[in-house]
Amino acid sequence: MISSMTLEIFNQLKLNSQKQRSEPIQNRIDRLKKIKNWVLQNENKIIEAAGKDFGKPPFEAVATEIFTVRSELHHNIKCLKKWTKPVSRTTPLALIGHRSWVQFENKGVVLVIAPWNYPFLLVMSPLISALAAGNTVVVKPSELTPHMAQVVQQLVSDCFLQNEVVCELGDKTVTQKLLELAFNHVFFTGSTQVGRIVAESCAKKLIPVTLELGGKSPVIIDQTADLQDAAEKIHWGKFLNRGQTCVAPDFIYIHSSVKESFIKLYNQTEAKSKREKPTQMVNAHHQERIKKLSNNLWDETKNTLLIEIQDWNHPIMQEEIFGPIVPLLTFDTEAQLLEKLSFDQRPLTMMFFSEDQNFIGRVTKHFPSGSVTINTTTLQVGNSHLPFGGIGTSGSGTSHGFEGFKEFSHQRSYMKHSFFKSMYKILRPPYSDFKFEILRRMMDLST
Ligand code: NAD
Repeated sequence: MISSMTLEIFNQLKLNSQKQRSEPIQNRIDRLKKIKNWVLQNENKIIEAAGKDFGKPPFEAVATEIFTVRSELHHNIKCLKKWTKPVSRTTPLALIGHRSWVQFENKGVVLVIAPWNYPFLLVMSPLISALAAGNTVVVKPSELTPHMAQVVQQLVSDCFLQNEVVCELGDKTVTQKLLELAFNHVFFTGSTQVGRIVAESCAKKLIPVTLELGGKSPVIIDQTADLQDAAEKIHWGKFLNRGQTCVAPDFIYIHSSVKESFIKLYNQTEAKSKREKPTQMVNAHHQERIKKLSNNLWDETKNTLLIEIQDWNHPIMQEEIFGPIVPLLTFDTEAQLLEKLSFDQRPLTMMFFSEDQNFIGRVTKHFPSGSVTINTTTLQVGNSHLPFGGIGTSGSGTSHGFEGFKEFSHQRSYMKHSFFKSMYKILRPPYSDFKFEILRRMMDLST
């Protein structure tokens, strides 16, 4: 499929992004309000599309696609005037007579590339931040969720002019074509493999890029954990969207003394969940991939499946699972646990079920990750006040709320000289011993 994006349309977006630099902030708020009204009026279309694309239950569509988008809109609309005000910065004594401040300014025209797993949220959340920062935007929804892609396209054409936001539909060839254009920022959410391709393409043109990627996010359960609570919440993390969530528990690392009790409680939770029909795997390829990873232990009749393994080299531990199966490994000592969690893994999140704050503190200091959750899973995504993003192979840059706005803004530094103007003549040639002495004294005084 060939992109319908012409150079002419791109140039219109670029020109308009320049105009938007001097418009009142209220115009940005009005754009966000247009999205808000559209979402309120078209909730059913979003729910229906999520159902058609991969059988997402209406409850999950509302909780994870609509509620989250409305929260981001609410937060941005409420805070945008405050965020866009110039922020005064300290000026050191050595620069007396100057005033310093930072102003967040738009970057220009930005590209948002989205995955399929939360096909409305993961287009809209960066779009909201990009618009809040005053940019013009091209969004590229995933081709694997075509019904939601149509909904996004409808929203864009109902709410925006062609020089404000454009929606491009299609597969990776469309993304590749888009990546040839001189965007001022690219925001990519998806797999680490494709993230590498996108980053490489941006690097060639020195385009700044945000990468929201994935990885193997561990759940660590120690002897102090409330096991019932842990079993229910981890099961929910795998049931929700059928485990096709970037911050879903990927594998469980549990203290051997509580393993048997935990497995029993997990399986009881799985049995109870049979009353509810979960989201489906997005396509046959992913369904087969999960079956194979589980050695044919998992099939569609199981909402989720806990699989006990002994071997860290097992194929299930070699890739992000991104599905409803969860391997479980055990540790006997903290030293053993720390040995297996390498400083270089850097997943998107790590989850603890423990009442021992000192233990949690020691492990988090040893092992970096994008975020940490304690006695909860997945819900950190719902808090717009927290930055969201990975580290290393799980991503770079941040999204949501103020950090999302910052990601799509340029933090421009300003400095103005108003007083003691003649004093600064000492910096200018001809240099003399006297000037040198003043310079040294100033340095000693202020550093
Ligand atoms: P993906 O990387 O296959 O696709 C993402 C987007 O990139 C799609 O729009 C696709 O059309 C495009 N694309 C695919 N191949 C391309 C190529 N060669 N060149 C250019 N563009 C290409 O990811 P996916 O399967 O849609 O999503 C699943 C992955 O996304 C998982 O790894 C998951 O962890 C990650 N994810 C991360 C976050 C986060 O916020 N960190 C959120 C959701 C999903």
